[in-house]
Amino acid sequence: HPHVSRPLPEPPRIGPPDWASVRADFPLLEREVHGKPLIYLDSANTGQKPAAVIEAVDDFYRHHNANVSRAVHALGTEATEAYESARNRLAAFLNVRSDELVLCSGTTFALNLVAYSWALPQLKAGDAIVLTRMEHHANIVPWQIVAQRTGAVIKVAELNEAGELDLEGLYALMTPEVKLLAMSHVSNVLGTVNPVREICREARRRGIVTVIDGSQAAPHRALDVGSIGCDFYAVTGHKMAGPTGTGALWARRELLASMPPFLGGGEMIKEVRFEGTVYNDAPHRFEAGTPNIAGFVGLGAAVDYLTGLGMEHVEAREQELLAHATEALAGVEGLRIFGNAREKAAVVSFLVEGAHAHDLATLLDLEGVAIRSGHHCAHPLMQKLGVGATCRASFAFYNTHEEIDAFVAALQKVRRLLA
Ligand code: PLP
Repeated sequence: HPHVSRPLPEPPRIGPPDWASVRADFPLLEREVHGKPLIYLDSANTGQKPAAVIEAVDDFYRHHNANVSRAVHALGTEATEAYESARNRLAAFLNVRSDELVLCSGTTFALNLVAYSWALPQLKAGDAIVLTRMEHHANIVPWQIVAQRTGAVIKVAELNEAGELDLEGLYALMTPEVKLLAMSHVSNVLGTVNPVREICREARRRGIVTVIDGSQAAPHRALDVGSIGCDFYAVTGHKMAGPTGTGALWARRELLASMPPFLGGGEMIKEVRFEGTVYNDAPHRFEAGTPNIAGFVGLGAAVDYLTGLGMEHVEAREQELLAHATEALAGVEGLRIFGNAREKAAVVSFLVEGAHAHDLATLLDLEGVAIRSGHHCAHPLMQKLGVGATCRASFAFYNTHEEIDAFVAALQKVRRLLA
């Protein structure tokens, strides 16, 4: 291991990969649960990791571990290069400039960074923030904190029956008091893919700053973040084959340059004096303290891995799995699906008449099937749907058609037990 830098990612392949061998890249998917082969249908919650990612983290700790941006010794240089190389790879993956990409612990941190460093200083009483009904708590609570502190108000864009945003209603909310629009690119509950490009264009025309939560988009589709026309875009590494505790915030350079630091400490400064401190430039100004270096090495490997598959193939594969699951679930008596947007990611939220979501998920677990049940960190959406919880099966490219059939057969079985 003379050097930490790895070769550039392979160019995207032309045809789709062999999905059976792709699946074999994920060691965890080999295991059994309660004596049954695991069927992991909770990738919207967190994704499984290919061996390449696990090995990259292992290799970093075995051969290169040191802190970043501090030591002049060889390991320090290797660690810094590895960390910055991960930033460059993720920037290429999102098609943005790497000096506009702040590395952080995930989407929750990224959205709070925008709330504390951009919104708190900018907003005042009389201003308004627009959110949508389908937001994750991570894209609601930071704005409530901003609203409480500044006196701004929050307005909520509603959904139609299919779980799509009511665009006319949304545009009608964009009045002159609105300074900020924060919304998800893809809903973690309904799977709805929002037309963010069109919405950001409308927002920009009205001088509204846009924050897009890309947690559920980045793992599933090729992204060209710059072309969306938003001001901020947040992603999280653990849903895109990378380690937990990694993520990033992309922001337009002028905005980043205008923002005061969120956290103070090492790395984010140029010079510290008791009379006054000179902060570092963005993005490092927002990366106080020792970052999750090994995690970002893993995320760099994850991005290489996804790029190698080709995101257009990942998307097509997941759409096939979604279509298969939707059709198979239609045969389950008393099953209701929440969300049938025209453009939908591979997430199916459902309930079965007469059965509680947690009971279904618990019995499915005994069959080896891992789905999520609960409110999915989206209380306001649950309130609107009029339910306390749903079951959610979410699919990734490493799932198979056979797993979907086995999941639906298991669901039929547990439904009979509960009904
Ligand atoms: N936003 C959405 C839409 C999500 O699905 C999630 C994941 O749970 C989050 C935000 C939170 O992301 P993180 O786990 O990186 O804090």
